[in-house]
Amino acid sequence: MLLLKRMRGTPSSICNNRIRLTGRAARGAVVALVVAATGALPAIAEKPQCALLQGVMKEVSAVRALTPKGEVPCAIASREEIGEFLRQSVSKKLPPKKLEMEQVVYRAVGIVPDEYDYVHGVIEFYLSQIGGYYDPDTKRFVMADWIPASIQESVARHELTHALQDQSYGLDRFLDPTGDNGDQLMALASLVEGDAAAVMNDIDRMQRGQPPLAKIKSIDTGEEDKVLALTTAALPTQTPQALEAMILFPYVHGIKFVHAILRSGGYAAVDAAFKEPPRSSHEILQPGDYLSRRFKAENPTAEGLASAAPGAAPLYSDVLGEFAVRAILEGAEISKTQASKASGGWKGDRAVLFVAPDGSRSVVWKSVWQSEVDAQEFASAYRAMIRSRYGVALGEQRTQISPSKAATLVAHGREVLAQFWIPRDPAA
Ligand SMILES: [Zn+2]
Repeated sequence: MLLLKRMRGTPSSICNNRIRLTGRAARGAVVALVVAATGALPAIAEKPQCALLQGVMKEVSAVRALTPKGEVPCAIASREEIGEFLRQSVSKKLPPKKLEMEQVVYRAVGIVPDEYDYVHGVIEFYLSQIGGYYDPDTKRFVMADWIPASIQESVARHELTHALQDQSYGLDRFLDPTGDNGDQLMALASLVEGDAAAVMNDIDRMQRGQPPLAKIKSIDTGEEDKVLALTTAALPTQTPQALEAMILFPYVHGIKFVHAILRSGGYAAVDAAFKEPPRSSHEILQPGDYLSRRFKAENPTAEGLASAAPGAAPLYSDVLGEFAVRAILEGAEISKTQASKASGGWKGDRAVLFVAPDGSRSVVWKSVWQSEVDAQEFASAYRAMIRSRYGVALGEQRTQISPSKAATLVAHGREVLAQFWIPRDPAA
């Protein structure tokens, strides 16, 4: 929904920057706010840019083959107004403590470093980088008043595709941040964003006299970068690599996924995907598995993990998913290819934060793999990541791997169980 723009720098730097946008955690938060906001935006002055919207809606609905079912009011907002909108939405719509819990789990498993301030980082990111959004609550499109004229039309094409998606399929259910499966949320976001990127791309192709995406075999990187450049913003430089990859996922992989869907049957096939959406990042990475419906994730339940933390209560539960596993493994001394291979046998997972009556906390992360060999491959890649990051050998004996966490890793059959013991919640 959000269209973020790099705000520092000139318009030309926008195009040169690698593209980025809301991830899943991050996204869960911000999409929630954007989706949820109840029109609390302070007075927004209408500016001439909104005049271009009528023509854009015609273009978008023609390419997307969806009939608009209502007007989409347009507004132009200042940085301060959008910031206020985001802050209010976060506090109103995100489940309490969601970001804090996510931070605990992400630090434990290694998505962000132990000391990274995820909560602050995510909120500041959105506050500082947002460039425009479609708000399914008020059904209107809001463009940041600092968006350069040269890309306003592209922003509008992207966001009005979201308006059409919302009118036809109801975006609320694609953005619900209250569930316990972030992997599924990421897959839904990839469909929603990939579709908006594809429409934007197809309009551009049409105007250049090029064949539509449905008729070309592969999207070259230049084209993809161009799409991404129009739909994303630069993350603050201190954003950890794995988190950045997860934030980029719906854009980088969403367009590839939707391209595969388009190849299978044009925008009618994309409509079918909205009716029966992808359920995991695995299906986004392997569109063939989505189209054939042959992939069924085996995500453990939170109850199923309780025996690892006897007497403790589950406080928070999430599915990390194949792509998050890949992102965790990448970097250090593990190549992208190795990380992709070691995460490729993913069949399901769940990470649960448990709190014992005495306040001690642990994160239990069980993953299920397609075969015993896949489980072993992941376990050894994960150990290699821990070794390269912390200089410690991770095994079945509880070991202090960093000043703030101890861990174990046990591979058994098709399952790998990792457990992390972390300090008490200082606020509890
Ligand atoms: Zn979007």
